Amino acid sequence: MTHYTTPVCEFHSGRVSCPACRIGRLSTLAMMDALACTLCSHIYTADPLRGTLTLSGSAVPVHWQWDGRTWHAPGGQGLGWADKLAAGALIVCPPALIALCSWAFPLQPDSSYAWFPSFWSMLTFLCHAGCVLAILVSYYQFSLSACLRAIGRYALRRLPQ
Ligand SMILES: [Zn+2]
Repeated sequence: MTHYTTPVCEFHSGRVSCPACRIGRLSTLAMMDALACTLCSHIYTADPLRGTLTLSGSAVPVHWQWDGRTWHAPGGQGLGWADKLAAGALIVCPPALIALCSWAFPLQPDSSYAWFPSFWSMLTFLCHAGCVLAILVSYYQFSLSACLRAIGRYALRRLPQ
């Protein structure tokens, strides 16, 4: 007799949350051995023997382990502390360097460009944060448009008839 770590029906029950968006629920795809999120429309293949889910169609293999209550990324996958440190440094260091330079070499207060260093520092922060966000969105294949469409569908269902 085969012992399943995770009951097969648990992934197909509609009660398990999506590991990518953590909001939508997993549902079965008709005529396919795959699961899909009801919110972000990611498609997964399940391995019930190991209790894992694999994101289909991603450039890098992305897996999650189900422990019966929540999803966990196996070791060596996802964001490690070095990735988080590099992302934080990419977001904080360039604008801090610009702010430090503008503090060390201030413009004349009555100059017409006195606003420029703070503007440039803020623009640098936003651009670098956008780059890090784009990398995260690409890694997890998060689609903002699909998520907004799904939220719109949920909102329409909740409207009184
Ligand atoms: Zn999802």
